[in-house]
Amino acid sequence: MPTRAPAPSEPTALEVAPGTWFVPGWVNVAAFATADGLVLVDAGLAGDARRIHAAVRSVTDLPLHTVVFTHGHVDHAFGLRAFLEAGDRPRIVAHTGVADRFRRYARTAGYNARINAVQFGVDPEALRWPSADADFAWPDVTYTDALDLVVGGETFCLRHARGETDDGTWVWVPDRRVLACGDLFIGVAPNAGNPQKVQRYPEEWADASETLAGLGAEVLLPGHSDHRTGAATIRHLFTVQAEYLRSIVEQTIAGLNAGLPHDAIVAALEIPAHLLAEPTLQPLYDRPEFIARNVIRKYGGWWNGSPADLLPAPADARAREIAALAGGTAALVARARTLLATDDRSDADLRLACHLAEWAVLAAPDDPDARACAREAFGARAAAESSLMGRGIFGAAVRAAGAPPDA
Ligand SMILES: [Zn+2]
Repeated sequence: MPTRAPAPSEPTALEVAPGTWFVPGWVNVAAFATADGLVLVDAGLAGDARRIHAAVRSVTDLPLHTVVFTHGHVDHAFGLRAFLEAGDRPRIVAHTGVADRFRRYARTAGYNARINAVQFGVDPEALRWPSADADFAWPDVTYTDALDLVVGGETFCLRHARGETDDGTWVWVPDRRVLACGDLFIGVAPNAGNPQKVQRYPEEWADASETLAGLGAEVLLPGHSDHRTGAATIRHLFTVQAEYLRSIVEQTIAGLNAGLPHDAIVAALEIPAHLLAEPTLQPLYDRPEFIARNVIRKYGGWWNGSPADLLPAPADARAREIAALAGGTAALVARARTLLATDDRSDADLRLACHLAEWAVLAAPDDPDARACAREAFGARAAAESSLMGRGIFGAAVRAAGAPPDA
């Protein structure tokens, strides 16, 4: 996930410890010089491959010996091409789940292209998801729980942890006291509840955060956001992250055990004030409500608890009924606009306005005013939303309301 892009003036490969470089970007890459060659942790996006290669080659010409993928996401495991074209032939090491992920990506390429186009606000036709065998850099060496690699006489400790993904690896280089943790730290609230994507693992992420807090790392090279230094700082970042995830998970499970409806569990979530104040726990990518939903999905079924929703009437039929009862689509539109125009408009007003606008469009998909109202409501919602995931979905709703369905 993106949290920052390198400024034009920024060095492209920062030496953060002797023979240890951090290449900042959309996704960060770490490079370690050893007596046997270079060890790379992650390879970046396919579209970023040349820049990353140039950055690494501006500081070292050691042959690429080993590449570790911290997980198989497209922004971490698809940027090797420029190294391979230049003649490097590294062994690729990853958790066994990375190959499973690649096979899943090939099977669901159309779906993944669509949901990522929504999340990042891009044209789905312009987003090509990897699907051909040649698109993937298949791992040569895989492991399940732990693997100690010795390269140039130095040990690289690979450990599996679930967090953002089921195929995660963190890499601890004890002689340098450097930790490359992949997406187990991203500089903002953890990506542990993405509404469009497969299961995430907030409990296991909390466990891993506690382990990483206790390593004594002096340098942290995360998959996204700036690198961090200082053992106390790094311990703090992982400690509060574990607390944050634990708090959401425990509140959600308590709600499930108490028999609360899912919406009530999510609405009642409270993040402790000292965690809300943490700069690295801001809900700028994911948000607590989505993480709680993900916990509910893990422990429960897909049914939302509303009997009418179990085998529902079609959404457009419901909307037409509501519109008819309201006195027509125009009444729904008018009420949505009243809520949107309220001087002290609250979050609750915005939420209601979106329901009204959605009903109006479903009831009368060719009504230009209903579509305009949907653009206004979801546009206002997107503007007020902190999380990139939420903005992506609301923004897609604005674009979908831009034209009649058959246009
Ligand atoms: Zn990532």
